Amino acid sequence: MRFAIGLFLCAALGGALTTHAAETVNDITQLNPIVVDRVAHPKTLEEIVELVATHPGPIAIGGGRYSMGGQTATEHALQIDMRSFKQILGFSRERKEITLQPGITWRALQDFIDPYDLSVSIMQSYANFTVGGALSVNAHGRYIGYGPLVSSVKSIKLVLADGQVVEASPQLNAELFYGAIGGYGGLGVIVEATLHLSDNVRLLRTFEEMPLADYRDYFAAQIEHNPQVILHNAVLYPDQYQTLRAVSYRRTELPLTVQERLTPLNQNYWKEHKAMKVVSQWPGGKTLRQEVIDPLVLKKPQVSWRNHEASLDVRELEPDSRAKRTYVLQEYFVPPDQLESFIQEMGTTLRAHKVNVINLSIRHAKADPGTLLAWAKTEVFALVLYYQQSTTQAARNEVGQWTRALVDSAIKHGGSYYLPYQIHATPQQFRAAYPRAGEFLALKARVDPQNKFRNKLWDAYGVAAGENGTQP
Ligand SMILES: Cc1cc2nc3c(=O)[nH]c(=O)nc-3n(C[C@H](O)[C@H](O)[C@H](O)COP(=O)(O)OP(=O)(O)OC[C@H]3O[C@@H](n4cnc5c(N)ncnc54)[C@H](O)[C@@H]3O)c2cc1C
Repeated sequence: MRFAIGLFLCAALGGALTTHAAETVNDITQLNPIVVDRVAHPKTLEEIVELVATHPGPIAIGGGRYSMGGQTATEHALQIDMRSFKQILGFSRERKEITLQPGITWRALQDFIDPYDLSVSIMQSYANFTVGGALSVNAHGRYIGYGPLVSSVKSIKLVLADGQVVEASPQLNAELFYGAIGGYGGLGVIVEATLHLSDNVRLLRTFEEMPLADYRDYFAAQIEHNPQVILHNAVLYPDQYQTLRAVSYRRTELPLTVQERLTPLNQNYWKEHKAMKVVSQWPGGKTLRQEVIDPLVLKKPQVSWRNHEASLDVRELEPDSRAKRTYVLQEYFVPPDQLESFIQEMGTTLRAHKVNVINLSIRHAKADPGTLLAWAKTEVFALVLYYQQSTTQAARNEVGQWTRALVDSAIKHGGSYYLPYQIHATPQQFRAAYPRAGEFLALKARVDPQNKFRNKLWDAYGVAAGENGTQP
């Protein structure tokens, strides 16, 4: 393969990188402590090139560490923690484009673009993640008319295993572009990204309650092609999952009810924390949510800036302690006409295992334009599952069982599951849900022949796991 930019930066820079001796890396669930040999916190491209070109052992890449299954580390690795690599490199208000170092968080990016009345085009529903982490999982949000994050990326730059810095876009080194986005740090370090931006507009929140059976028609008629709807999702209520509240944020010129342009960084979340406790631990808490808490919250008229809604802080979800119980996410994707059938099977599985579901919501995404590890192989509805589990080994084993049942069900319905979460799917399930994984691994073998870029995801499903993989 020939790369357009073959800039090889000499490794003899001798930069004083901040490193620490063996360190335990964990994620937000606290379920996956991994001891790495050291963690480096590079601030410059030259430092990253030096680390990659000279480190003899495995290298894992860390962003905000919100993925939930060891996707940022493996034993004895050098972890390159990208969070200090966070400069904005270029910006055009006219072209609505920004170029940045991907250790930056969405929130820091929003602080920069908000004064120009611009917004991130596609991102997750919280702003704490790094852009590099979001690119590497090919994240998505509640944005109507969009799909995975890749659609808003103009180009990226990567540091490959041999220290080469290469540019990739849909036109240039397209295989690397569509491999690295959604590639979980397996091909190299994303060291630069240029993103398309959108306008920051005022949004009026509205909601409607309906049976699941009506939702697809409602979505097709009123939401999908409506240019006024910017954000949309639907909350499905446990444990029957047959009633939902569809929540939309539409463009409006009405006066603001929320004056702040961005979610305040020092916001107090005691109400949200109380509500989480009620829903997850009180008997009848889920009914209370459906019948009292949600109607009360949603009936309050809300007009806010898009950037306010896009800058939510994951602190609003954080429990007092994760020692005995922790909160975990999962996500499944199915083609639109499979929605009701999949939810029916999902509900049966969740009830059979008495899963403590805090939230199950539906989102929509357009088909992926070509990433090798596309979770949206077609247009899809996404089922985002937030639940509480005990941290005991027995509980973890049971989560593994019902997760594999849900993955099977998603595959049977022509769908997929999301990879940033706990690694419970078997290698066979991974290959079935991600049919182009073989192409990805062949590309990895070409650009990273020594399998330098590793983490728990690639240990489970990558080349080193062998043809049949290692059972996670
Ligand atoms: C509360 C919560 C809400 C969430 N909501 C959503 C949502 O709405 N939509 C959605 O799509 N996802 C959602 N997620 C999942 C989230 O998008 C992923 O976990 C994402 O990876 C988080 O970004 P991060 O910066 O923490 O990445 P990390 O967890 O640090 O890294 C994720 C992967 O990216 C790789 N990586 C990171 N930076 C780079 C880089 N510069 N170059 C190459 N590889 C890199 C890592 O090696 C790793 O494999 C949510 C997660 C949580 C905890």
